[in-house]
Amino acid sequence: MGAAVTTARTPYQAASLAVDYPQFAQTRKPDQTTATSAWVGEIQPFSSDESARGFLHRLEEGKTIWLHGGRLREELPMKAHWADPLLVNMTVRCRLLILIQPLPAHPRAYLLDPLFAEHYGLVHPHPRYDQLIEYEGKRIPGLCIYSASEFEYDPRRDDISKFLNQLTIYTARHLVWLRTRQLFRGFPPNGVLLRVLLPGETLINDMPSVVFAGDPRRMIMLDYWSGYWPGPTARAFNPATHLKFIGPNQQCWCGSGSTYKSCHRPLDKAKLAISR
Ligand SMILES: [Zn+2]
Repeated sequence: MGAAVTTARTPYQAASLAVDYPQFAQTRKPDQTTATSAWVGEIQPFSSDESARGFLHRLEEGKTIWLHGGRLREELPMKAHWADPLLVNMTVRCRLLILIQPLPAHPRAYLLDPLFAEHYGLVHPHPRYDQLIEYEGKRIPGLCIYSASEFEYDPRRDDISKFLNQLTIYTARHLVWLRTRQLFRGFPPNGVLLRVLLPGETLINDMPSVVFAGDPRRMIMLDYWSGYWPGPTARAFNPATHLKFIGPNQQCWCGSGSTYKSCHRPLDKAKLAISR
């Protein structure tokens, strides 16, 4: 852990990664990025399937999640959860890419393996499609691990380890999402459930598909796999909620580190006006 001294820390000290997340190493930056440095490493949130179930229970009940160095503390489930049977093969080592941005912008995170596929941007509850990168020949959306207007992490002041702790919890939630996926036709509230994943089933092809029913020009529906995102559900982030909850002088939700009024607020206002 960081030393308990009050000296000012240089943001993004490599030392903080070396101490708390030594499995991360600096790597070549992707092409066409604003990043000042890039880091790759593995995070394995769960040491067993039981600990994944324990995490799910604690998260759903709003209890503190303890973790260190990208590994959650082993907690046993206190009672049954409907998703328990699906949480098998949870000891996944996740390879992640971190792109450190010039201050005051927040870092960005990408899941390389198991790949956060480009099409997850359509069906996943927390992607950052606006942070899409090309890396190792693939197009990969960013991970929306928090709204910068809400999370207490501040890239000008805080240790990068704090960001990675939050990323560890996101990764754990994402693994639950992957294992609990169901095949839907059409989006809520009219979506129809077609099939559920079986415990331990590996999904070979999770690409969404467009199907035609009746008049092929008009009746287009999308079949897609989407899972359960556990824990307290964040407010639906859209222009209306942004404008309602983020003050003009608060940090923008997007992670630029700028105030909301000088970043996305004008755009959110314009989008809201159009949708009305
Ligand atoms: Zn913004």
